[in-house]
Amino acid sequence: MSALSELYQEIALCQQCEIAKHRTKVVPGEGPEDAEIMFIGEAPGWHEDQQGRPFVGPAGKYLDELLASINLKREQVYIANVIKCRPQGNRDPLPTEILNCRQWLERQIELIHPKMVVTLGRYSMALFFPGKSISKIHGTALKQDGIIYFAMYHPAAALHQQSLHQTIQADMLKIPSLLAQTDGIAETKPQPQQLTMFED
Ligand code: URA
Repeated sequence: MSALSELYQEIALCQQCEIAKHRTKVVPGEGPEDAEIMFIGEAPGWHEDQQGRPFVGPAGKYLDELLASINLKREQVYIANVIKCRPQGNRDPLPTEILNCRQWLERQIELIHPKMVVTLGRYSMALFFPGKSISKIHGTALKQDGIIYFAMYHPAAALHQQSLHQTIQADMLKIPSLLAQTDGIAETKPQPQQLTMFED
């Protein structure tokens, strides 16, 4: 069994949060263990909870389209969420849920060791760009421990807000060149990796 499959078994046993009791299926994440790019969303929605797979509803369809715009298929990238269980009624994740679940994401990043982590939305961004505002830093990257972190709006936000369409599409188009220059990008001074509030 692969290290990633073993991790999925551990995640499936996790009952640290109340939401674990209400889930239909846990949504650990999916994709190749040697993926170069890892996309990290917020939390499973209704469709994801039913299927146990990330980004399979309308936001996932849009993510597939965005990936196609840079000639990628979802099978070529790793897709995960900050939270592995669906918060009831699609409410925002609670700080304790983010803290409890963080260990899983860290182990996924450790195992996959992608060249690039793309954060989708504020909750995912807040883990790697503490204290920053998504409206200011979307489309920008930083490098830490050899991994490029790149912040984007959440595809669901762009689906609901026409004005974000062009922005998210333009940000996606920056990914191939960033990926091609990973070695040439300077390391950003380490910042404490902590949960912080965001500005918007
Ligand atoms: N939104 C997310 O953040 N993640 C999913 O898996 C689906 C929708």
